Amino acid sequence: MTVRTRVAPSPTGDPHVGTAYMALFNLCFARQHGGQFILRIEDTDQSRSTAASEQAIFDSLRWLGLDWDEGPDVGGDAGPYRQSERKALYAEYAQQLLDNGHAFRCYRSPQELESLRAELKASGQQRALKAADLALPEDEQARREAAGEPSVIRLHVPDDGRCVINDMLRGDVELDWALQDAQVLLKGDGMPTYFLANVVDDHLMGITHVIRGEEWLNSAPKLKRLYECFGWDMPQQCHMPLLRNPDKSKLSKRKNPTSINFYRRMGYLPEAMVNYLGRMGWSMPDEREKFSLEEMLSVFDIQRVSLGGPVFDVEKLSWLNGQWLRELDDDAFLARLQTWAFNREMAMKVIPHIKSRVETFSEVVDKAGFCVSGMPAITEASFDHARHGTDEMKEWLQYLLWSAEALRDWQRDNLFAEAKRLADDLDVKIKDFLHPVFVAIAGTPASFSVVDSMEIIGADMSRARLRHAIDVLGGVSKKQVKKLEKRWRELLAGE
Ligand code: GLU
Repeated sequence: MTVRTRVAPSPTGDPHVGTAYMALFNLCFARQHGGQFILRIEDTDQSRSTAASEQAIFDSLRWLGLDWDEGPDVGGDAGPYRQSERKALYAEYAQQLLDNGHAFRCYRSPQELESLRAELKASGQQRALKAADLALPEDEQARREAAGEPSVIRLHVPDDGRCVINDMLRGDVELDWALQDAQVLLKGDGMPTYFLANVVDDHLMGITHVIRGEEWLNSAPKLKRLYECFGWDMPQQCHMPLLRNPDKSKLSKRKNPTSINFYRRMGYLPEAMVNYLGRMGWSMPDEREKFSLEEMLSVFDIQRVSLGGPVFDVEKLSWLNGQWLRELDDDAFLARLQTWAFNREMAMKVIPHIKSRVETFSEVVDKAGFCVSGMPAITEASFDHARHGTDEMKEWLQYLLWSAEALRDWQRDNLFAEAKRLADDLDVKIKDFLHPVFVAIAGTPASFSVVDSMEIIGADMSRARLRHAIDVLGGVSKKQVKKLEKRWRELLAGE
């Protein structure tokens, strides 16, 4: 048997360190067994998937040196490797399940589903919705069908009993069928859900070992059921521990930057990133902290993964990066620095903005240093403004951060439009509204256009600096977040 593994990210938002983590372990496992590692793009959520995000996944994994043997951009015999290009296939398989009675058509509306769930809860039953709960009286089902009302295809799952999932790291894990719902397989728009597409693709792509995040373990019975319904062997399952913030909560961008691009922009070396990810729940047999991907590959053993939630700690990563940097000789250091940001491409972005603002070259670093620096050295006093207080400005920064997080196309005009819209809705002059944004991004209100600056430093660094500024201004408590989020939504809705 040829070992085939895959990483299957969804191209929504920024390329996540968790994707790199899964890619690394799948790559190591495949290489160790002389097998293949595949990249599949799971873009069935069409409303959230973007081409830019897909490209960012390719770029960031390549930057890390986690190369794949087959994938949307390199091809392969088991393609296409993008789920949106396999749509017809899923419908066929869903039909097959309908035909042999493993699946059923469900005409329940979202409101009905909500009340069915509420009823279950009120009756004190700790279980998920099953086919019997969803069934409509025969004539009503026929009426909705005849009227062409929207419907989905769902999976029949056992009402009760235990399902055993064999996990490479945990051995047999028993899960309760009662908690598994009659999973939607094919949505109203004809697109498959994760469950159907994942099973069909893993099977057709000959995947032998599925190494995925622990968050999928609880729903693994539905995957297992699907393999059984199709009469296919389930690939060996392996659920990796979740990466955590230093406070042990699940790694989240509120507490830690999670985008690979952020770390790239901050000037971490890819080999240090891979080294650090390799230390997440895994260790070298001699426990040494610094090792290369080749070294990891040469001794890789998945059984050395320990399940205690590994903490992704930026300070430790920085320490490790320092170790790698110090090993570069001066020439190599310079070369890497140039590749990173001291290059023509970056210079050409910055020069048009500072040329008219300097009289000598010696002023350049002072005016443009923020384009390559990390977090600006700011304090609450840096935000001082004649008419507006820091609490108020902190709120604006939070609104802008949310808008910036939702922004698909990171361009100066779009950024300006977002800022202008918020300023207008808040009844604040745009110049005043942008004051704290200048401080957050450039460290001073006296800089060139802040939206151009945001375009230059990029989405990840801009968002990180906005977050940093909010923290410098005292941060936003959980309670406040709720209130502000409501207000932000109202502002967007024009209320
Ligand atoms: N698209 C899923 C994700 O992004 C894939 C999970 C899996 O590996 O099965 O998490």
